[in-house]
Amino acid sequence: MEFEPVIGLEVHVQLKTNTKIFCSCPAKFGSSPNESTCPVCLGMPGVLPVLNKKAVEFAIMASLATNCQVQKKSVFARKNYFYPDLPKGYQISQFELPLALSGYLEIESDITGDKKRIGITRIHMEEDAGKLIHDSSMPVSYVDLNRAGTPLIEIVSEPDLRSAREAGNYLRQLHAIVKYLQITDGNMEEGSFRCDANVSVRPKGSDKLGTRTEIKNLNSFRHVENGIEHEIARQIALIEDGQSVVQETRLWNPDKFKTFSMRGKEEAHDYRYFPDPDLVPVEINDEWENELKQKLPELPEQKKNRFINELKISEQQAETLTSSRELSEFFETCANIVQDSKLTANWLLGTFLSYLRENGIEADKSEISPEFVAEILTAIKEGKVNDKTAKEIFSDSLNTKKSPSQIIKDKGLEQVSDEGELEAVVDKILASNPDEVEKYKAGNKKLISFFMGQVMKETKGKANPKLVNPMIAKKLG
Ligand SMILES: [Zn+2]
Repeated sequence: MEFEPVIGLEVHVQLKTNTKIFCSCPAKFGSSPNESTCPVCLGMPGVLPVLNKKAVEFAIMASLATNCQVQKKSVFARKNYFYPDLPKGYQISQFELPLALSGYLEIESDITGDKKRIGITRIHMEEDAGKLIHDSSMPVSYVDLNRAGTPLIEIVSEPDLRSAREAGNYLRQLHAIVKYLQITDGNMEEGSFRCDANVSVRPKGSDKLGTRTEIKNLNSFRHVENGIEHEIARQIALIEDGQSVVQETRLWNPDKFKTFSMRGKEEAHDYRYFPDPDLVPVEINDEWENELKQKLPELPEQKKNRFINELKISEQQAETLTSSRELSEFFETCANIVQDSKLTANWLLGTFLSYLRENGIEADKSEISPEFVAEILTAIKEGKVNDKTAKEIFSDSLNTKKSPSQIIKDKGLEQVSDEGELEAVVDKILASNPDEVEKYKAGNKKLISFFMGQVMKETKGKANPKLVNPMIAKKLG
């Protein structure tokens, strides 16, 4: 029997507001434990939450950018459960009336090789819980409530995804969008962009859903794809073995390359949701929504099309360059100075991108600025240096923090294009290789590369080959 996986993703995005969602504590990362707390986010009795307007704005922007219908009225609800990182005994979230409904993203499908629309069921706002720290050297666990009350949005997709690769593509696109909006820092390792995947399998052609499991702890695109891939295989093996899939929450362990059972999966009714009596409904009028619509920046897909149509670079290059906001901005700044988008694209996607990937950093964290890279590219464009020298200048610039033009000057790397100077070298080479000159004249035209090589050796690779080649040919008749 052939099986078909059915996958839906729930993505939590931490919003980059200055303060928390219901109090004025700073929402920054990295303070000392429990430093950024107050009676509201510590869950003291008798306190009242007040909604952060900026968090609502960010959530509306995310909804608009993912083609969702922003709801005129949404309501905060209490999601009741007890856990030590949640001192109130409930999390403030949205349930029956979320902020936005019915959106979609267009993704690339590896199954059809075509574009495919993935539905977004809903986007709702909620607060994050605190953090538990388990130190194996101590007989206790610690509670840090700095993260309690940090604003989150949860973006829930329809179960429209049919492969691990499709899930990865959807997630990468969603990540690029929220980064372009600048509503989150999007750091997956620190948990600002985290994903749970609901996975089930069913016989191909069936429209009935199989029993699903939820995989948690997927904090990189690679883990998402590997975790889902593995879970699909595990479920198919169970069914083929005559067993059945149990509805549960599982954890992905990237080191063991396996998912492990964590706990039975709760249903919504387990949480006894009810509207939070301390918070009024959120009402969003057309004026506010339109104002935010005007504020939306150019999104990845629009930018990609502009790069293809106006800057005339290939679709493949535009796709990679716009996959990250930082890289696309670096590229544009550079290309504007150099006034040659093809040269800039080729160079950034080669030398520069491999440097970023090796160091695991975004373009704006690079130690070399777009202006510096533009200097190198201008030198190539003007024929002052060749591509090989340009790469050396790039790594020198990284190491010494000196500007490329300074390095070219200091090391005398400038390509020799002075015809008189080059002619003298060519004459010298021809005079000291009379046998080769004879052979060339007798018809062995391939020897031109031997002479070129000698000239390059003599000039330490700095001769401009575009000038030397015809010069040799002319002199030998
Ligand atoms: Zn607080």
